[in-house]
Amino acid sequence: MRIDLHVHTSASDGLLTPTELAGAVRAGGVEIFSVCDHDTVDGLAAATRAADAAGLTSVPGVEISAFWGAVEFHILGYFIDPTHAALRSFLGATREARHARLRAMLTRLHAMGIGVPPEDVLARAHNGNVGRPHLARTLVERGYVGSVDEAFDRYLGTNRPAYVPRPDVRVRDAIAVIRAAGGIASLAHPGLHQRDEAIPELTAAGLEAIEVYHPHHAVGVARRYRRVAQRHNLLVTGGSDFHGSGEGDHGGAVGVPCLPEADYERLRAAARARGAILPG
Ligand code: AMP
Ligand code: ZN
Ligand code: FE
Ligand code: FE
Repeated sequence: MRIDLHVHTSASDGLLTPTELAGAVRAGGVEIFSVCDHDTVDGLAAATRAADAAGLTSVPGVEISAFWGAVEFHILGYFIDPTHAALRSFLGATREARHARLRAMLTRLHAMGIGVPPEDVLARAHNGNVGRPHLARTLVERGYVGSVDEAFDRYLGTNRPAYVPRPDVRVRDAIAVIRAAGGIASLAHPGLHQRDEAIPELTAAGLEAIEVYHPHHAVGVARRYRRVAQRHNLLVTGGSDFHGSGEGDHGGAVGVPCLPEADYERLRAAARARGAILPG
């Protein structure tokens, strides 16, 4: 059985709608998947409907951007209750912060002679859930750059001139709200950050898993994080971080890599012990 616990939809910065995504999941031979959109649960209801119709299992998820000091981490939440009031108000505040950040990025670009109206960027974002990829795609369409990758390399990537951090969300708050909503918090793609010294502190704050399998983790890296998980008594998650084909660095394929069934069963058992409503 193929399991992919990290895919994105157009409810955040993915290119496929939840329904289209379910089709891609099925075509990729994946049976269990989790939509983990950036700072939103807006795609989950449609994903679950499409999964049911296609005979697939959809695990409700989210990927929250949060800061540990100056370091940006992504915290995945699994088996969350998307209707939970505290989670909804947390994500509502995040959406506002993303709008303010978009305006700050546009101000920086303007100072570099690049004028982009905010409406153009927001028009690409579902329900106001705007991120850097929407801005990158606007810059491509307006001819300022040749590709999304170039937009990140030149302007939007970490510490590039139009990069604006959003340190209003702290990692411990992200973990707490995931747990309040009945979910299991997992540190996304730790190999991308290379800040393993944070893991004990995050674990003390309620982190229960780490993402061992990710397209940016080479085999040796995944093996190393399996040992880290063992050492800290953490569960193991993994997935493709699929954003839709044609998205350069984040194109990839659904189900590559996937999560071993035994790891999924342990995650599911932990969620059940918590009283989460389990799908499938
Ligand atoms: P944001 O949530 O607004 O901070 O944007 C983060 C998202 O931008 C990531 O989840 C990726 O989808 C995308 N991204 C980050 N770096 C790159 C890159 N170098 N090339 C293409 N997309 C990227
Ligand atoms: Zn993304
Ligand atoms: Fe991420
Ligand atoms: Fe992701």
